[in-house]
Amino acid sequence: MLTNLPRGTNDILPGETERWQWVEEQFRVACRLYGYREIRTPVFEHTELFQRTVGESTDIVQKEMYTFTDRGGKSLTLRPEGTAGAARAYLEHSFYAEPQPVKLFYLGPMFRFERPQSGRYRQFHQYGVEVFGAADPAVDAEVIALARHFFQRLGLQGLQVHLNSIGCPTCRAEYRQLLAGYYQPLLPQLCEDCRGRFDRNVLRLLDCKVDVEYARTAPKLTDHLCADCQKHLETLGGYLRELGIAYELNPQLVRGLDYYTRTVFEIIDPTLGTQGTLIGGGRYDGLVEELGGKPTPGIGFAGGLERLLLILEKDPQRLPPATRLDVFLALLGSKFVPEGLRLLGRLRQAGLSADMDFLGRSLKGQLRYASKNQARFVALLGEEELSRGVVALKDMEQGGQVEVSIERLEKTLLERSNHR
Ligand code: AMP
Repeated sequence: MLTNLPRGTNDILPGETERWQWVEEQFRVACRLYGYREIRTPVFEHTELFQRTVGESTDIVQKEMYTFTDRGGKSLTLRPEGTAGAARAYLEHSFYAEPQPVKLFYLGPMFRFERPQSGRYRQFHQYGVEVFGAADPAVDAEVIALARHFFQRLGLQGLQVHLNSIGCPTCRAEYRQLLAGYYQPLLPQLCEDCRGRFDRNVLRLLDCKVDVEYARTAPKLTDHLCADCQKHLETLGGYLRELGIAYELNPQLVRGLDYYTRTVFEIIDPTLGTQGTLIGGGRYDGLVEELGGKPTPGIGFAGGLERLLLILEKDPQRLPPATRLDVFLALLGSKFVPEGLRLLGRLRQAGLSADMDFLGRSLKGQLRYASKNQARFVALLGEEELSRGVVALKDMEQGGQVEVSIERLEKTLLERSNHR
């Protein structure tokens, strides 16, 4: 038997899928309320797209992509994140010719060759939004408010918003020199990763998880922003205060690539340490241009669904109750199968979830199966009942049994289970 999963992948099983659907639905509802529309892009794209957008110097492109050559000789890559595909689609379908901004959201599997650990997988799922065509800090505030709204819907509390500005290519260039000057003499003391990143992208040294102390005392980009970038950050701060969204300025929050501009943010569960980042987001005003389009501002965030579910599962109260069967038909003999099938059809038409035995089990076996599937009611159908046009209806929750006419079975069940 071939029974082992590829490393870093998961089966999402019945019992879990209901939770996934619930979380996904909360995200869809939040997005709909904020005027965002779903986009579904392919799970693979041309490799070059990610090299360009995620960036050659990043860990993702350097060592985490699932890249393969297809039978036509093209290099393709399983998407490691969702922004690249959304930006490509924005250009591909001339969304720029429509009224701006274009507000999109997505949900779906992403792929990164990482060392698997709790909450970190090789196929994982992200939810995210992208807004193209609006540079105003009010959009930054809206995107953060949407994330907060989503987490509120899930009943999550105590989350923190961390905010920073990484300026624009102009003010960042000056700051980069300043930072390189700060780190240069420290190089021998830095971790291997940092020494490697120093030449590739000195900004990344700020979010090193090892050399935290050096990052803490490094010059802050927010002290060196140009007037426009400074104003953007201040205005955003004002909007967030207006919305009652508390935030913390965190100068260590960075994005490595040049097309990222100004706002970067994370929403964090402070009780979870390094696993606590629920979403990461930011502005990427240079991204569409990088792909060959006209300069187009953009901002978005993405979060991992697995990580979110791990947090939600710590308090099962927050999760929706498991789905259950409204009624199970217990047949007292195989000759009742035709009647059973007919009745199941009627119940399902009426919007009741209904099932019956397909294995010719004893009554005891059928009742066991019904309770395993958490049936709310069991309807017993046998010779004697059928001749009188009734079923014996057993209440599996409150106990007791009553006779109900087959004609009125749907109505009775709908009334008794307070069906929506
Ligand atoms: P990133 O796209 O790296 O900024 O990640 C955004 C979010 O996606 C993170 O906060 C995680 O929740 C999630 N994430 C990233 N990589 C993985 C992974 N390998 N496995 C599970 N979740 C991930």
